[in-house]
Amino acid sequence: MVFSLNRVYYYTMVDQEFFALEHIWKLLKEDTVPELDGELRKIPLLQEIHHELKALRDLADSLRDEINLRNLNMAALQERESRFRYLANHDPLTGALNRRSFMERAGHELRTAALMRASCGIVMMDLDHFKIFNDTWGHQAGDEVLRHVVTIIGAQLRKNDFMGRYGGEEFVFFFSHTDRNTGLTIAERMREAIAGSTIRVESAHVAITASFGVCIAAPVEGPVADGMAAISLESIIHNADLALYRAKAEGRNRVVSYL
Ligand code: GH3
Ligand code: MG
Ligand code: MG
Repeated sequence: MVFSLNRVYYYTMVDQEFFALEHIWKLLKEDTVPELDGELRKIPLLQEIHHELKALRDLADSLRDEINLRNLNMAALQERESRFRYLANHDPLTGALNRRSFMERAGHELRTAALMRASCGIVMMDLDHFKIFNDTWGHQAGDEVLRHVVTIIGAQLRKNDFMGRYGGEEFVFFFSHTDRNTGLTIAERMREAIAGSTIRVESAHVAITASFGVCIAAPVEGPVADGMAAISLESIIHNADLALYRAKAEGRNRVVSYL
């Protein structure tokens, strides 16, 4: 009798310990906090553990919520930052790089080209008789032409080339790893692409043309001081501009090389 009573007592204790442990396990692992019910309520230590773990879980939940909120805010901030960066570097009308951003990138590429002893080129492009176009068809149609030209030219650029809006209806291009013949060929392709396209204004299809000036910077002989190019970006642009003036003077809708 005593023996059997002890057995009952013994099993009851083991069961209680088992359920207590199971309860703690659920508190730690399960998504929803389990109720502390029945016989388990009568174990003071378990009650204490239950409340401590529940408080820890609540704390962890609120921390997780806060982290999620911060991550969301961070993502929104990063998106805004990249939007601002885009706006700071691009021309709002055409989406081309703005002049400042172009000059920064071109300066960097020119120094790299000098270090690598690679030739590169600058091309200036200016739309022909654009004032007449604006006067005839209106400023909005003129804006449309600028967007149209950038789309057409963008499709002609090779992977490492880039363009910027230099001002008004004048655009500038950086051609990397480009010798004179290649530079002239690509500029000619651009010219043909523009001259071969028309822009639809009202019910008319209006032809547009552009003139191009090309200047190639050949690799320099001897050491390159401090990684700086021997020729400045400004002087290459100036020379490309001189070639562009010649293209205008010689009748427009053409490509002229500085040398
Ligand atoms: P040329 O062949 O000698 O380059 O003649 P052009 O008429 O193109 O040159 P000019 O410098 O006389 O005129 C440039 C015109 O470009 C005048 C200006 O109103 C126009 N223009 C500049 N920026 C914009 C723009 O953002 N939108 C529009 N629609 N027109 C612009
Ligand atoms: Mg012009
Ligand atoms: Mg101009």
